[in-house]
Amino acid sequence: MYVAPPLPPIEVLPLDISGLKRGNVGIDYVHRFESAHPGPSVMINALTHGNEFCGMTALAWLFEKGVHLTCGSLTLSFANVAAYETFDPAKPLASRFVDRDFNRVWSREILDSADNSVEVRRARELRKFVETADGFFDIHSTTFPVRPMLIYKLLEKSVQLAATIREPLTHIVSTGSKHEGGVMYEFGRLGRSDNSAIGILVECGQHFAASSGRVAIQTMLRFLKPFDVIDKEFIAAHLEPDVPGDFVVYEISEVLKAKTNEASFVRPVQGFEEFREGDVIGFDGEQDIRAPFDRCAIIMPKAQLIAGREMVTLARRLDSRVNT
Ligand SMILES: [Zn+2]
Repeated sequence: MYVAPPLPPIEVLPLDISGLKRGNVGIDYVHRFESAHPGPSVMINALTHGNEFCGMTALAWLFEKGVHLTCGSLTLSFANVAAYETFDPAKPLASRFVDRDFNRVWSREILDSADNSVEVRRARELRKFVETADGFFDIHSTTFPVRPMLIYKLLEKSVQLAATIREPLTHIVSTGSKHEGGVMYEFGRLGRSDNSAIGILVECGQHFAASSGRVAIQTMLRFLKPFDVIDKEFIAAHLEPDVPGDFVVYEISEVLKAKTNEASFVRPVQGFEEFREGDVIGFDGEQDIRAPFDRCAIIMPKAQLIAGREMVTLARRLDSRVNT
């Protein structure tokens, strides 16, 4: 059986967020701020995965500082609190979801189906906010301590906004529909080129690292800035100086699923290891898994490889910024 690298120590534990349960839109853990002045609808989403605490840290920080809206609206949501509440430090990866991955249900087929899972029912509650957002920002973290990354669909509007956000300096782009079931940041208008609504996801670092919360706050401010819905001075007061250098871009080619419970990587991996075309990445049943091209980076490998579930994302490191 594949043995993944050990997880780092747990530096951050779940906060009691029950005080934020009662929102102002009639849906638990959803808060919406509206300005009298017209402007874009922006949504910041935390806890899409129940054990990814940095989004909780960022939203708790924003609530504590106070939201100073200048125009438009800002919706703040904690998505999968049901999973978050099951966190057990002895099994820290087990609280990612309750019934199924919340970030793999964002398609009309699933949302309109008879699926009665905790996650699909919750997704139906958040749907109208995601569907109407002009800017949607989804805060995540990774199993292993790898560099933070922005992830977005390869659409002109998203590429432009991501270049403005710039940091974290690793960008992962996708031509879309790579994850079976559908991801939130590509849902509806966000994933289409016929409108200006933009969805971006950030992976802030390791799930339980204190530094991931700081990355979440900084990237959230960088995302909010161009929409201009919250006070400029507030953003300027809290934004750290730019890190020098340009960002590096990877393009997702495919998301591999394990075919057997005996699937394994060629060695313990954490993410961003690169392989040359034809190199063996891992094994699955009788088959070798080989890199389909040069500069093939493996992104977010799973710690536990289970038949039928996602194993790893393969991406090509590009020379420079992408053109759409
Ligand atoms: Zn996640």
